[in-house]
Amino acid sequence: MESVASMASLSNPSEIARETLRQLAMRRDAPTPDNYRRLYHEIAGTQVSDEAFPDQFVRKLAKRLPRDTAERQRLARQLDQALASGNAREANEALINYLNGLHGNDAQPWNELIGALIRQWEGRQTGWTTARKREALDRVLSASDPATLHTRLQGLVKGWSQTPHADDAAPIAAEQDPPARSASAVPAPGARAASSMPASEAVDRTGLQESLRTLFALAFEDVIPAFLGEHPELADEATHIAATVRQASDVSAVDALNRPLRRYAQRLETTAADDAEIRSGLLDLLRLLLRNIDDLVLDDTWLKGQIEMLREVVEAPPNPRALDAAGQQLKNLIYKQSQLKHNLVEAQRNLREMLASFVDQLSRMAENTGTFHDRIGTVAQRIAEATDISTISPLLQEVMSETLKMQTETRRSRDELTAARETARAAENRISQLQQELDEASRLMRHDQLTGALNRRGLEEMFDKERARADRRHTPLSVALLDIDNFKRLNDTHGHNTGDEALVMLASTVRKHLRPQDTLARQGGEEFVILFPETEVAHANQALVRLQRELTREFFMAKNEKIVITFSAGVTEWVSGEPMPSVVARADAAMYQAKQSGRNRVVVAAPPA
Ligand code: GH3
Ligand code: MG
Ligand code: MG
Repeated sequence: MESVASMASLSNPSEIARETLRQLAMRRDAPTPDNYRRLYHEIAGTQVSDEAFPDQFVRKLAKRLPRDTAERQRLARQLDQALASGNAREANEALINYLNGLHGNDAQPWNELIGALIRQWEGRQTGWTTARKREALDRVLSASDPATLHTRLQGLVKGWSQTPHADDAAPIAAEQDPPARSASAVPAPGARAASSMPASEAVDRTGLQESLRTLFALAFEDVIPAFLGEHPELADEATHIAATVRQASDVSAVDALNRPLRRYAQRLETTAADDAEIRSGLLDLLRLLLRNIDDLVLDDTWLKGQIEMLREVVEAPPNPRALDAAGQQLKNLIYKQSQLKHNLVEAQRNLREMLASFVDQLSRMAENTGTFHDRIGTVAQRIAEATDISTISPLLQEVMSETLKMQTETRRSRDELTAARETARAAENRISQLQQELDEASRLMRHDQLTGALNRRGLEEMFDKERARADRRHTPLSVALLDIDNFKRLNDTHGHNTGDEALVMLASTVRKHLRPQDTLARQGGEEFVILFPETEVAHANQALVRLQRELTREFFMAKNEKIVITFSAGVTEWVSGEPMPSVVARADAAMYQAKQSGRNRVVVAAPPA
């Protein structure tokens, strides 16, 4: 028989092929493509070439490789790239890397994994009944391939091992206690049944009991106290009940809670009813007050406006945001009223004093003139009766002196009257000055005098509240900036008053068509900011477009001319933690774009990446 080595001199491929077939038959090797290829290269004295890489097959394989972890994804992608570039050697390496990676460091060997599974299956984890475990395992077992199965199983076992194990101090009666003790220690019917039920069912029931105990304790630790902010003693009691339930080691301890729990429920019910009554009572009082307040402040337009707003708030069903705003308004109202009252009292006192002094003067004058007339009358009589001039001379002297006295007296009275009039005038000036200061103070408070919208300070306060709410409730908050189009032209053509009227109309249109919880604020000039709580930017955008439509339907007359206004707006969503100037600047930039692209439109600004 010729050796393979001697055949190495063959160079004609068909001769090599023939020889390969002959050798295959002689060696009784299975006639597979692999054996043929190996023998062919042996005979020809060549290396197994790259073309031998089963490209098609590996491509199919690569498509089905599990990519369930980041590492497997990375390795499979390397294989994809090598296949795409047609480099068989790299593809070969990538495939080997992938297969090695299947049993990388994080992959637990099957024997260990199955051991751990059995241990965890037998263990008692809080909240995991046998039925729940079986359900979870069934889901894992439905994995389509071994790698996925391995990963999921590992995850499941890890999850169970990290769940706190049911308290060893409260063992499951059916499993660990002798039946006689169990029956006496746990007299409840459920527990007696447990001693005669199959072990797995007892485990199920105990697991269920544990879950219920946890849920109950959670309800009393977290849920109920959340509603009892104003009743700390009830909140404390809820926590106490939860602790008792958590510590209960047998059914009798839980049973003992029955009566206190009923009493607690009654107290909760009474407290809730009281709270509701107080709430509605307070609202009724406020409504009553507002209905009658008109009589007190008929002549103060500023106060009337505030009261009107307050009335709207309390007539609607109560909502925390509106009540909040109402509270603020009421504070402003009370402040202004107290100022006015103070001024009024002072003015009245001044007037009273002035009047008193005037009456004083008058009576003194009357008195003086009365005395003067009497004296002059007496002197005149004596003059008439006088017989010689020497007796008349001292009488004339007397007349002179009386008249002089009278004159001095009159002057003094006149001076005093002038002074009183001055005091009155000063009081009047002070009142009007105070009035101005008051207007200034109210302007500086929360509302813009012209439009009734919040002013900048009011906006800052409201923004702080809204962003806290958005954070607390994990809800979006959108912010828009509006600027009236061609406002300068309107002012120039129709005058400043018409401009003011347009501002008022814009504000009232906005208020009419927005939701009550949306906030309108005048940022300055003809710019307004709107806060849209619990609103994604797309919806805020829709609201603004709707507003633009409504605004073009409204108009007002200026010297027989219909005035219609439009606005451009930018809107964006607030990013948690972002300060107000930043979000307003983003809305402002978008508003500028809206102006650039022709006005009367809304542009949405995406939040920063
Ligand atoms: P654009 O469409 O680009 O916004 O043009 P515009 O004319 O509206 O913008 P610009 O900012 O040039 O003009 C705003 C004008 O608004 C200038 C100012 O006189 C006027 N303005 C600001 N505050 C008030 C106000 O309280 N009342 C009135 N009547 N006008 C105001
Ligand atoms: Mg402007
Ligand atoms: Mg403008």
